[in-house]
Formats: sequence, structure tokens, C-alpha cells
Amino acid sequence: MNETGTVLITGGSRGIGAATARLAAASGHAVCITYATQPAAAEALVAQIRAAGGQADCLQADVGDPDVAESLLDRLPPALPPLRGLVNNAGITGPLGGFAQATRATLQQVLDVNVLGTMLLTQQAVRRWCAAGQGGVVVNVSSIAATLGAPGEYVHYAASKAAVEAFTVGLAKELAEEGIRVNAVSPGTTLTEIHATAGEPGRPQRVAARIPMRRPGEAPEIAEAIVWLLSDKASYVTGSVLKVAGGL
Ligand code: NAP
Repeated sequence: MNETGTVLITGGSRGIGAATARLAAASGHAVCITYATQPAAAEALVAQIRAAGGQADCLQADVGDPDVAESLLDRLPPALPPLRGLVNNAGITGPLGGFAQATRATLQQVLDVNVLGTMLLTQQAVRRWCAAGQGGVVVNVSSIAATLGAPGEYVHYAASKAAVEAFTVGLAKELAEEGIRVNAVSPGTTLTEIHATAGEPGRPQRVAARIPMRRPGEAPEIAEAIVWLLSDKASYVTGSVLKVAGGL
């Protein structure tokens, strides 16, 4: 996409989403970020981007609620330019542990946020782009867990991200002639709060030894790949799953 449109980034208040919003704005995109529970973090990021001369706004939205995901695009701030990019970044793991111990509520929540939320929001975007005869770009944030399986940690999460990757590949082929590109970035272990939320803040350090580069990633390193896929520099790239995982 060229830099005249808005990129919507779900879960943009912190972590990989916030790093993506910063870099996208610095690259000339208008950005709209969503958050679930932390308005102060989202508003502070919007203020930083605006202070640097960028265009930004934020919205509260639990993308795990199908009604919210389906109506989110109706709530885009009218002052922003038309939507041209969507980054389905919001994602949750549920608590770390063996699959036998995972509750039905955890399985439901992880699938609702990571899979159904991504699908419903993408559906709204592509319907609009197709109706307007305009192209667009979708970048889904998967996880290296989709191919490794995350045994003993969160196999349900790994399965949800495998669904995101299959969705990416199929939708890219379905929409290629419409001028809509669909790709995914598959991060490895990255230094964000997701690990503390899952119950082990020190997980990145614990697993570093099994990463070929022997270190976790930083959120801005993942953002680089996402923003490249959004850009026209990736104009011939669709249906790709780009691993940004230190060799994992
Ligand atoms: P994070 O630091 O935990 O941040 C999660 C973000 O998602 C926050 O902005 C949060 O909003 C938002 N969010 C959570 N639940 C939501 C919901 N139901 N609806 C809307 N937004 C919601 O996570 P992260 O590590 O940056 O992860 C971002 C993406 O990368 C996820 O898809 C994750 O699966 C993927 N990933 C992460 C890693 C890693 O090691 N960090 C590795 C592979 C893949 P609030 O701040 O308002 O709560």
C-alpha cells in the first residue's frame, strides 16, 4: 500500500502492535490502533505519534467479541484517511501449561480472539475494498508456535496460529486478482508482556538457549517485517508466512 491510507492495528497499545504502529507512522502511514483494556497506554502512543507529526487515533475493541469485530470498521475515526491496511496483531495464549489442564473457557477465548476475531475483521475489510474496487493489504501476526506446536506450554494457541496461517495462504490466493495482498509474520519468542500474562515473565530468557541466535527478539524487529509487508516494496508478495524468529 502507498502511504496515503490508514493502517488499522489491533492490539496496538503495547508489545509488537505498538512497535508496528510507531514504525508505520514513521513510514508515513496514518494509524489507528485498538486496545482491549489499557486506554492510557494506547492514548500515550497516539500522543507520541502526533507529537512526531504523524496521524494516529485509537479505539477500544475486544476483537474476541464477534459483534465488536464485525462492527469495528464502522467506528474508524472519520478524520483519518480511508483504510488501506489491516494488521491482525491482537492475540492471546491463555495460561502456560499442558493441554489436559487447559479449560474450555481458555480454548474458547484463544480461538475467539486469535482466529474468529482475525477472520471477521478481515472479512469486513475485504468486503469494503472489493466493493470500492480498491486494493488493500492484510498482515496477520502468527507465531512460530504454529509450526513448533508449543508442547507443554499452549498447544491450543499453536493450533490457533496454524489456523491463521492457513487462512492467510488461502485468502491470498482468493483475493490476488482483487489487488488485495494477504501475508503473515511469524514471530519467535519476543520480549513483550505476553509471557507475564501467560504466567511466566522470564520465559524469553528460559527458552533463549533453544533459539539458534540464542536470544529473544525485540518488538521493533518484528515490526520491521510487518511494515515491509504493508508497503509497496512487497508488491509481489502475497500468501507468504515470514518467519522472524532468530532461526527457530
Ligand atoms: P502483548 O504484549 O500481550 O500485547 C497484546 C496486545 O493485544 C495489547 O495491545 C492488548 O490490549 C491487545 N489485546 C489483548 N486481547 C485483546 C482482545 N481480546 N481484543 C483486542 N485487543 C486485545 O502481546 P505481543 O507479544 O505484542 O503479541 C502480539 C501478537 O504477536 C499476538 O498475536 C501474539 O500471539 C504474537 N506473538 C507474540 C510472540 C511473543 O513472544 N511476544 C511470539 C509469537 C507471536 P491491552 O493492552 O488493552 O490489553
